[in-house]
Amino acid sequence: MSRRSEILAEMGIAPVWRLRGKKQDSSTTWIELKQAVPACTACGLHKSRMQTVLGVGDERADWMLIGEAPGAEEDRLGEPFVGQAGRLLDNMLAAIGLSRGENVYIANVLKCRPPGNRNPEPEEVEKCSPHLRAQIRLIGPKLIIAMGRFAAQTLLGTDASIASLRGRVHAHAGVPLIVTYHPAYLLRNLPDKAKAWEDLVFAKRTMAGLRT
Ligand code: URA
Repeated sequence: MSRRSEILAEMGIAPVWRLRGKKQDSSTTWIELKQAVPACTACGLHKSRMQTVLGVGDERADWMLIGEAPGAEEDRLGEPFVGQAGRLLDNMLAAIGLSRGENVYIANVLKCRPPGNRNPEPEEVEKCSPHLRAQIRLIGPKLIIAMGRFAAQTLLGTDASIASLRGRVHAHAGVPLIVTYHPAYLLRNLPDKAKAWEDLVFAKRTMAGLRT
């Protein structure tokens, strides 16, 4: 995007029709992404969403946490992880000295809610992936935490279980990635909270190593 277009976009008079069909690539800016996602009609989920949910937090964060897709509350409020699972996530972050918005960015693989919270379809993931790709590139996190089976399998291109993926440093798009349980799963499986705690401690140690 030229400086002139960027200024026009900032003033809210950018020609949105030109951005909608634009392929997300290595030159996508935050301004373009923030226009492209709410305007996206690439898959059927746009028909049932209340709004898109791009992400929340520090747009230059070292930590990026990625979940599955917005739920009902997120669809209503336009922010990821604002329901019960979100409160658990905030508590888990606090336990390792982090909080949403401060060097942390939280997003989902899908930017729209699948109706009835059903699992995302492969076509929806494929159509949405340019948004996440652009988002990761713009944030430039030092470490990604994939929360839950769906995010982990999608980001790592595998169908391996969470249990087999935990406790190791993987990579997505050249960024170190650690896998942990989804907070909504932990709400239903309290004993696994201890394992999620281990994952976060492991992530904290890994981040400390990346900084040196
Ligand atoms: N579950 C997710 O995966 N993402 C959200 O934003 C909320 C619940």
